[in-house]
Amino acid sequence: MNEYYDTHIETLPRDELKKLQLQRLRWQVERCYHLSPFYRERLDKAGVRPEDIKSLDDIRRIPVVTKQELRAEQQQHPPFGRYVVADKSDWGELHPSTGTTGVPVNTIWSKRDVANITDFTARVLWGAGVRPADVIQNGFSYGLWVAGMSVHYAAQKMGCFIIPVGATMTNRHIDYLSLVRATVLTATPSFGLHIAERLREEGVDPEKLALRIGLFGGEGGTETTSTRRRLEEGLGIDAYDIYGLAEIGPTMACECTEKNGLHWVEDHFLIEILHPETKEPLPPGERGILVITHLTREATPMLRYWTNDYAVYTDEPCPCGRTHGRSPGGILGRADDMVIYRGAKFYPIQVEQVVRKYPELSNEFKIVLETEPASGVDKCTVLVEWASSAGRAPELEQRLRQDMKEALGVTPYVQILEAGSLERTTFKAKRVEDRRVRE
Ligand SMILES: [Zn+2]
Repeated sequence: MNEYYDTHIETLPRDELKKLQLQRLRWQVERCYHLSPFYRERLDKAGVRPEDIKSLDDIRRIPVVTKQELRAEQQQHPPFGRYVVADKSDWGELHPSTGTTGVPVNTIWSKRDVANITDFTARVLWGAGVRPADVIQNGFSYGLWVAGMSVHYAAQKMGCFIIPVGATMTNRHIDYLSLVRATVLTATPSFGLHIAERLREEGVDPEKLALRIGLFGGEGGTETTSTRRRLEEGLGIDAYDIYGLAEIGPTMACECTEKNGLHWVEDHFLIEILHPETKEPLPPGERGILVITHLTREATPMLRYWTNDYAVYTDEPCPCGRTHGRSPGGILGRADDMVIYRGAKFYPIQVEQVVRKYPELSNEFKIVLETEPASGVDKCTVLVEWASSAGRAPELEQRLRQDMKEALGVTPYVQILEAGSLERTTFKAKRVEDRRVRE
């Protein structure tokens, strides 16, 4: 049995890998400059010409691009924005973001993009121990959610038997695990835990199932040691972290059987870790914002996409022999968007909606997540502030907690501060402060 899906590329010496990255980066900048008015305007503004990219470090001259900028571009030039860099005859699939934080950002996979995504997804599945004889029960959504398709295509290419259940119908998942004896499950960690809970309720011993591998992703930052342990015990499997995001694409990083971090697919993606404010590159091992560049994507390439996900990066050799860099610990949190707390997911906007129902409170709020040192239990506190010193109702904290519970599905602590105590920003308010200790 081969150790790798594609030995040549997965074990390519790093200097050769970097040479390939530079060659592909130059190709990508060149075509973005000439074929996309969106990128051309940005590069011209930064005074960068394609021929200025002489080394991988020169990528720093290119401005980063955010989801907000893509969204604005798309609204000005519907339906796809001018960041599409492929002829319509080459388009394969439309993949919008989920839209949970606003208008979905549309991306397109060209036919060659589909082939590349299929190929590297097969590679990362193999890295986690999946083999052609496996029965893959795909619990990632197939409906406008990138990983559903990529796992399906990759499993098909590998020659696996696929049960395309998707992210609903827990009953069917339970049935197929028992009756068809799936050996691999893919799902979000919370859906994986939900399936484990249902198995327990139905009295199914996970050790009696054929399930041996679980790949969990799509929530960013949930693959903590304790989550992994719960998934592994509850489902009787080895659990692996897999990563992707709508704007960049699915399944582009996954743990190998060493379970020591997300291995990136570095022949297709250039990974940077930047300081959240200065946007300067951080040394290996330092936590910063993950910024990703498409080296091969044809249809909607991203040059330095600011993911808002925190990670570290290292190119230290992995015992598995793969030369591609890793992010130990996976995604270490998100700078904005979704909050995951005690199994519930919510967005700052939901807190905002509650806070702003109360005229006694100002517009400001902050969500603080921390780990209590004594118990190791996570705690979520919503900090709000009085609008003024007048009209304070003493029972307001209790009412707020009740409203938050209904809106978020979990009950945070609520603390009302003096008017004006929370920091104001003119750009984008930082609503979430995640100080939780990750194991
Ligand atoms: Zn490895």
